[in-house]
Amino acid sequence: TSVIGFDIGQSGSKIGAARNRGIDILINEVSNRQTPSLVAFGPRSRVLGESAKTQETSNFRNTVGSLKRLIGRTIDDPDVEIEKKFMSAEIVKCGNTVGVQVNYLGEPTVFSATQLYAMFLGRLKDTAAVELKSAVNDVVIAVPVWYTDAQRRAVVDAADIAGLNPLRLINDTTATALGYGITKTDLPAPNEPAKYIAFVDIGHSDYSVSIVQFNKGSLIVKGTAYDRHFGGRDLDLALLDHFAEEFKAKYKIDVKSNKKAVFRLSAAVEKLKKILSANALAPLSVESIMEDIDASSTLKREEFEALIAPLLERTIAPLEAALKQAGISKEDIEAVELIGGTTRVPALKTRIQDYFGRPLSFTCNQEEAIARGATLACAMLSPVFKVREFSTTDTQLYPIKFVWEASPDAEADEGTELVAFDRGNAIPSAKVLSFSRSQAFDVEAQYANPSDLPGGVAPWIGKYTVKSLNKEGKQQVKLKAKLNLSGILSFEGATAIEDAPEEPEPEAMETEEAAPVAEGEEAAPEAAAPVKKAKKTIKTPLPAVASSTSLDPSLVNEYKEKEGQMAASDKLVLETEDRKNALEEYVYDVRDKLEGAWKKYVTEEDKEKLRALASEAEDWLYTEEGEDATKSAYVARLDGLKALGDPILLRFREHEDRPRATAALREII
Ligand code: ATP
Ligand code: MG
Repeated sequence: TSVIGFDIGQSGSKIGAARNRGIDILINEVSNRQTPSLVAFGPRSRVLGESAKTQETSNFRNTVGSLKRLIGRTIDDPDVEIEKKFMSAEIVKCGNTVGVQVNYLGEPTVFSATQLYAMFLGRLKDTAAVELKSAVNDVVIAVPVWYTDAQRRAVVDAADIAGLNPLRLINDTTATALGYGITKTDLPAPNEPAKYIAFVDIGHSDYSVSIVQFNKGSLIVKGTAYDRHFGGRDLDLALLDHFAEEFKAKYKIDVKSNKKAVFRLSAAVEKLKKILSANALAPLSVESIMEDIDASSTLKREEFEALIAPLLERTIAPLEAALKQAGISKEDIEAVELIGGTTRVPALKTRIQDYFGRPLSFTCNQEEAIARGATLACAMLSPVFKVREFSTTDTQLYPIKFVWEASPDAEADEGTELVAFDRGNAIPSAKVLSFSRSQAFDVEAQYANPSDLPGGVAPWIGKYTVKSLNKEGKQQVKLKAKLNLSGILSFEGATAIEDAPEEPEPEAMETEEAAPVAEGEEAAPEAAAPVKKAKKTIKTPLPAVASSTSLDPSLVNEYKEKEGQMAASDKLVLETEDRKNALEEYVYDVRDKLEGAWKKYVTEEDKEKLRALASEAEDWLYTEEGEDATKSAYVARLDGLKALGDPILLRFREHEDRPRATAALREII
């Protein structure tokens, strides 16, 4: 099985794979090391990744990006409103979540954000399978640090729809830190003072930073912060606004009124922005931007910096927030590692460097560190690949509380909620909640501070219902909740705890220490009588059901089936196109050959027959029917031609090869 890591970026995504005892970044069908994070829809098929980018300008309404930013959201989320600024396809409501309406196979069709994300994962999966020449299943997907439970669950659903098996999700900066730590040979021993590194990632759409503590064989993320609306695209937008204004006066054109002109200008300003990272002045030129006008201009770096001043002012806030959460002063940071394309902007680098008061480091691969780290994380969980042990502990960003109704016979001082996983809680971790109940009950998990959440994500995480108790009267019930490696909350079961009878049967008892809760801390939400350590107890699992924001399994299956159908029809369209091209090529080729290379090996009669058949095929290709026929129709025509052509080809080869073979023989003698 495969060992794969995906870095799903807003502009481009990267695939890492463990092979040849190392980690490689895989190339796609046009030999690029990253694939545009786009899915598009056409009258005949879907168009994914590179080819979606190629047709973007001519089919922008049916080309969808922002995959990582739409998934797990609802239609009324303010972040979705912001996303519309960067999107051309129409955003619509899709069940409880957000979706996009496009024209697919000539019909208006709605796809959920989860389905769109799944389509793109499917493309990356195929790319990896081609490159590795093997099936791809196991994968680790890197996600933004700010993803909530709902967003993480949606990514897992998408992976499922794409036929992938996500061993875990990993936060972007944590993946980077893992790749960094595992290669360092000079980390302090576990009992020595730790080394603190800041990892700063500024990409196309967002900015995140983690403060990470390293010792030999382990890393602990101590603090994480982010600005979700801070990236290269915001710089591009500032530039676009600037030149659109300038061209109004200069050429009397309103670029923003013309979508294609906006596309052309966007590509040009991104290029200019990159030039300004290495030069004080950059030219801009867009041929026939609109109304046959060739637009051109220049910009100085300091002008650019003035344009993006409001954004630059927000550079320091995430750094401060991460340090604050970590409880570490910036002087204790030993290195500041930058990754992400936008950290190439000098004004940003200067600001970060000045803040830390030390030179910045670029030891991580700026483009590929996340995909590499995710692949390492996959290797660590996979049975097929041996990696050095390295323990990774992440940190919870948003406090999670459990809420329940007071039991009818509750004492007045019994609470009804408890923050069980606070901000800064280690990931993974488990907690046990104790209840004293005489009836079935349920517990809800929610984010404790809804205002912390990114955009309008709902605070509700999940619900756990203990369906019945195992006897009459008040009873001790323990619930185990887990924040797993992916940062997803799950309930792991409910147990009734009873004191063992006076003369207990030995095999029916267990001691409290031997309980399977050793990895967690014990939280006591209600004034439950503390169970004395080492006291003999009997544990009985109770029937319970959990609900969450994950898609219903039946819907996942439905989406999976649809995805399979779409993938199969895309494949058929490609193969049909391929056979049509093959037929066209043969028609032209055979005519030349009949007059050229094959001339000596064909009778006049056969020549006429083949020529006639080729002409007929050519005429047919130009008819409406031949233009858009089935794969088998093209194959049948081609086979018909080859039935006549192949015997000639054979005679030709025999004659051509024989003298050559004799010559070779002579040389040997
Ligand atoms: P995100 O992490 O936000 O999802 P991403 O991972 O796709 O996005 P990256 O690949 O890290 O983003 O970076 C892409 C961004 O970096 C683009 O906005 C691109 O214009 C910008 N960029 C790349 N090279 C340079 C450069 N030399 N100077 C300035 N900006 C650059
Ligand atoms: Mg990125």
